[in-house]
Amino acid sequence: MRVIIIGAGIGGTSAGIALQRLGHDVRIYDQIRENRPVGAALSLWPNGVKVLNWLGLRDEVAALGGRMDTMAYADGLTGDSMCRFSLDPVTAQTGQRSYPVARADLQALLMDAVGPDRIRLGMRMVAVDQTEDEVTVTFENGETATADLVIGADGARSATRDYVLGRPTERTYSGYTNFNGLVPADTRIGPVDQWTTYVADGKRVSVMPVAGDRFYFFCDVPQPSGLAYDRADGVAPLRAAFAGWAPGVQTLLDAIDPDVSLNRVEIWDVDPFHTWTRGRVALLGDSAHNTAPDIGQGACSALEDSFVLGLVFATTSLGVTDSLRRYERARTERAADLVLRARKRAEETHGFDPETTAAWYEGLRRETGENVIRGIVGNIADSPVTIGGLLT
Ligand SMILES: Cc1cc2nc3c(=O)[nH]c(=O)nc-3n(C[C@H](O)[C@H](O)[C@H](O)COP(=O)(O)OP(=O)(O)OC[C@H]3O[C@@H](n4cnc5c(N)ncnc54)[C@H](O)[C@@H]3O)c2cc1C
Repeated sequence: MRVIIIGAGIGGTSAGIALQRLGHDVRIYDQIRENRPVGAALSLWPNGVKVLNWLGLRDEVAALGGRMDTMAYADGLTGDSMCRFSLDPVTAQTGQRSYPVARADLQALLMDAVGPDRIRLGMRMVAVDQTEDEVTVTFENGETATADLVIGADGARSATRDYVLGRPTERTYSGYTNFNGLVPADTRIGPVDQWTTYVADGKRVSVMPVAGDRFYFFCDVPQPSGLAYDRADGVAPLRAAFAGWAPGVQTLLDAIDPDVSLNRVEIWDVDPFHTWTRGRVALLGDSAHNTAPDIGQGACSALEDSFVLGLVFATTSLGVTDSLRRYERARTERAADLVLRARKRAEETHGFDPETTAAWYEGLRRETGENVIRGIVGNIADSPVTIGGLLT
């Protein structure tokens, strides 16, 4: 089967590997000119890691993963501990460690696994058209390509989604801006094997260990969308947002080199929708379920898509359109659940309703780990990789 994938992100490349492993002829096109992922790193929870294991990348992804043994919350203003607990129960219950990974490393691994000769960069898809027998995509440079199946893994602003739904999609602002990057690991910010989060006033500063003795940091600042930001401002917006915060936070801000690693992303999501396919064209990843990062499941969900897509094409034989409909049926409800969970958590933690966020802080002060672990495992329990929870 000839497969075209639009988008060489985590979704597109993982789908490419899944279909290649079944012997299909996969070509991936992306508009980018070089591999420079937006965002410094991300957490791969066991559901996402399990898909990568299934794709044959077990050792490689383990080598990229930071060692994250414990999790802790601290009061952002004083630095006083609110709670600290082991993440071992997540591993024990799910059968797989979680890995924070630098995005550029993961992206390079996935692109390499697909095979660089299968990926063409600098190719912006502008149109899709299909007959009963095949699909043709047109690129901005006038070139066309034809296949039996097109996967639109073209991210949050997907043009394929417009084609599948027959209309443009509204995105919803989540109410905050996320700043993220990589810094050298430093115990003055938090232990090097710990996911440490400072919270106060609806804001958050968090560090997670990734390979290479580095911390992935992310800072959430509730603010309106569309504020002017000049890259030359560097760390200044963070210094303003976190003035007077605890010493560990100031150490982090001092360590950020904006020329090396600092990204600013407004967080938006898309209301869940349940039409992911049109004939021989299907959506996958953020194009299908653009999610706020508050439960760290967007990329994991894209990996789940690739798992199901691979499974469907490995096990059914009634043709492309039928297989895609089965993929859609298996995925939309689960992906929607994660989008809504993330949205709820974004609302709870960012002070949009100060009483709700204050209650969350109070809960953290009493937290033994049990509730947080239940939440993390709860995000994973319904994953398709768990076979109905049997392998959670
Ligand atoms: C701040 C932040 C933190 C996050 N943290 C986590 C986390 O901890 N854990 C987690 O699991 N997820 C996390 N996510 C979510 C995760 O980043 C996304 O879900 C994931 O990267 C989506 O991958 P994708 O391949 O679907 O889309 P993308 O990575 O957006 O890739 C889409 C690709 O399509 C290309 N493209 C778009 N339009 C066209 C076109 N017309 N023609 C050709 N190419 C096109 C783009 O250039 C791009 O390369 C986070 C997201 C954000 C914003």
